[in-house]
Amino acid sequence: MRIAALIVAAGRGTRAAVSGVGPKQYALIGGAPVLWHTLRAFAGNSAISDIQVVIHRDDAEFYRESVPVGAATVWPAVIGGATRQASVYAGLQALSALKPDAVLIHDAARPFVGPETIERAIEALITSPAVIAALPVADTLKRANPDGTIGGTLDRTSLWYAQTPQGFHFDVILDAHRRAAEADRDDFTDDAAIAEWAGIPVKLIEGTADNVKLTTAADIAEAHRKLSGRSERDFEPRVGTGFDVHRFTAGDHIWLGGISIGHTHGLEGHSDADVVLHALTDALLGTIGDGDIGQHFPPSDPKWKGAASRLFLEDAARRVTALGGRIGNVDITVLAEAPRIGPHRAAMQALIGDVLGLAPDRVGIKATTMETMGFVGRREGIAAMASATVFLPRGGN
Ligand code: MG
Repeated sequence: MRIAALIVAAGRGTRAAVSGVGPKQYALIGGAPVLWHTLRAFAGNSAISDIQVVIHRDDAEFYRESVPVGAATVWPAVIGGATRQASVYAGLQALSALKPDAVLIHDAARPFVGPETIERAIEALITSPAVIAALPVADTLKRANPDGTIGGTLDRTSLWYAQTPQGFHFDVILDAHRRAAEADRDDFTDDAAIAEWAGIPVKLIEGTADNVKLTTAADIAEAHRKLSGRSERDFEPRVGTGFDVHRFTAGDHIWLGGISIGHTHGLEGHSDADVVLHALTDALLGTIGDGDIGQHFPPSDPKWKGAASRLFLEDAARRVTALGGRIGNVDITVLAEAPRIGPHRAAMQALIGDVLGLAPDRVGIKATTMETMGFVGRREGIAAMASATVFLPRGGN
């Protein structure tokens, strides 16, 4: 199933707007915009192949700083409409070119959506055309009289608080939105309501209490406290190492650190034989004890023949992100008599930094010859070793 995520960030959110800070979905919590945290939650899920954000036309500047670096699945934003419903419709129309099978629609202002909720929604979509994350109402509910006295007590047993994500088979929700627009209905406050109107059964799945919608300035402040109250002590440093070797073969260029470098030989390998990215991928997998590159991308699988090794590194970074980890730095040593690495160092730093979301000073690239000793010294091949540090939340995210 090709699953897309549609993040609705076009609202003005005047209730939480603070002058000079902009709409609430761009307010900084824990050092990053609310939307950044939301996007990270979806970009960290490998089942989601495409992420479309809908923004307000005035927010392009805010938006640029809200996309996690290296979140390769985020498409350029589209501009929303006058209502939430119109914004979602615009996002669905943009996604329709990609022909996803299903879409999870989610509020940008719910940054604490957990991986378990996203996974439950995806799983439910296998058997249901529409699903909604929701929580059973725990409080007793009263109906008020106009004079401020209680007019009655409601039966809460069948009542739920609606959250997002709300997931749908793509064609079903696109069609329901089209029909709602044609019927001049523009007052639906969520997508489940449109599905209900269109006669589509919507299955309830359990959300989580912390998947709150940040609505007021007090909500933003509380979210900030929650994230920044997490001190360095709440993260544990992890270190991983990786090593890789490939043999020279006939050819006129090699791939190193994602860069093509002209050379007297090529490197033999099933993929593009990039020893730097292979060693680095293994170092990252090592930080989370998640096997090695050969396990996730077996050389026996023809799918990876000639593959750009950047894909392997992106996958390892996603696995770290999915655990709530952030990468501290990476460090690489290339063992080769030739070619010279120095002229290509900056390009490798930029490419690896782009994939991992790291500034160049967090990407070490070093090289040494082997003084003509051993297999590297005899120019039979190139080796690379790498290490990586990652900070993982203690006791899960
Ligand atoms: Mg290799």
